[in-house]
Amino acid sequence: MDKLLVITGGTKGIGKAVIERFAKEGYNIATCARNEQDLDALKMQIEASFGVSILIHKADISKREEINSFIAAVKGFSDKTDVLVNNAGVFIPGAIHEEEEGALEMMINTNLYSAYHLTRGFIHDMKAARAGHIFNICSTASIIPYINGGSYCISKFALLGMSKVLREEMKEHNVRVTSVLPGATLTASWEGTDLPEERFMKPEDIAETLWSTYRLSDRTVIEEILLRPQEGDI
Ligand code: NAP
Repeated sequence: MDKLLVITGGTKGIGKAVIERFAKEGYNIATCARNEQDLDALKMQIEASFGVSILIHKADISKREEINSFIAAVKGFSDKTDVLVNNAGVFIPGAIHEEEEGALEMMINTNLYSAYHLTRGFIHDMKAARAGHIFNICSTASIIPYINGGSYCISKFALLGMSKVLREEMKEHNVRVTSVLPGATLTASWEGTDLPEERFMKPEDIAETLWSTYRLSDRTVIEEILLRPQEGDI
């Protein structure tokens, strides 16, 4: 088997858990993040644990030219992308009326435009192959206007909009599109929290959900997945 998972932000949290789940099934991996040491450590761990090939690429996906260089690197690594997960995202809490100047632009660039440009980078090959699956990691903040969610909510509402439109567009091309809306998941994003671990979902559960969704027959598409901690939102 020579299958490829492309995922942004694979060095931590949900992204890393998804990589481990697909690597366990023998998928080769291509991922990017900004921190080079974390990327090197990930490569060593995945190769040693699963024996698959992994392309790591240092890129800041809030920058268009770095997205392009990641797409080019992936295409040099493999001529076929089976799964694309638009995962990397940032959450800076704040209120629309108070947050710092530039917060909106930063979160729209990172959480929305990156997914748009990466999708456009890979989708033509998926259409030509009449195969492929795109997961967009949205959030409960894509459907709930959280106080202190500010520009994060704006970017995640928009990402869900993009994902829904893409799903409609891809029906006739046999490319599956799934929007994933997790609630609070224990990752680096929550570093410093004093809430108990049990109050959060595990990144491994999000990863298992993506794998289960992906492995269904290609006659079925799970369009949206909403996941929350057992005790509800935080
Ligand atoms: P995380 O643990 O903070 O990890 C984020 C990953 O993305 C890291 O690998 C990070 O590496 C990378 N990244 C961040 N900004 C980047 C950039 N500009 N360019 C390239 N890579 C970047 O995050 P997470 O909690 O797993 O979240 C993953 C996704 O799930 C995000 O879209 C988030 O909004 C969404 N989500 C999370 C939760 C939650 O409670 N955790 C809930 C709902 C939705 P570097 O820092 O080295 O770049």
